[in-house]
Amino acid sequence: MIRIARERMSDLFALARSESARGGGTLPHRYVFLARRIGMRFNLRLPPEYRTLYCRRCSSYWVEGRTVRTRLRAGRSVRTCLVCGAPRRVELHRHPRVDGPEENFRRIAATPQEPALAGEPEEGDDPDDGEEE
Ligand SMILES: [Zn+2]
Repeated sequence: MIRIARERMSDLFALARSESARGGGTLPHRYVFLARRIGMRFNLRLPPEYRTLYCRRCSSYWVEGRTVRTRLRAGRSVRTCLVCGAPRRVELHRHPRVDGPEENFRRIAATPQEPALAGEPEEGDDPDDGEEE
């Protein structure tokens, strides 16, 4: 039953996508709404790839420029639903810079770059550790 519900949810999102590519109307919103309702009925999360595709307030299927506007500000992405106006803010940097940009750049430059060229086995740092049996 759970498996069927999952399939139904991704089917509905595929439908919403193809329908909005054809011009839309209210059908994509309806499909998203149904997919979310199935999720609530069976206590299932939406797969992560679908979670950014719709408005959480009004279930609009989001198409950039048509039903959603995305603006970047201060390390966040702010997506505003153009149907109901609800904003959705997403933090862009999970691991923020600790010491400011210069220190961050220095740290990146200091990390040893491994060329990892094929056909040039180097001795010393052997990545095949643990493969001997
Ligand atoms: Zn909305």
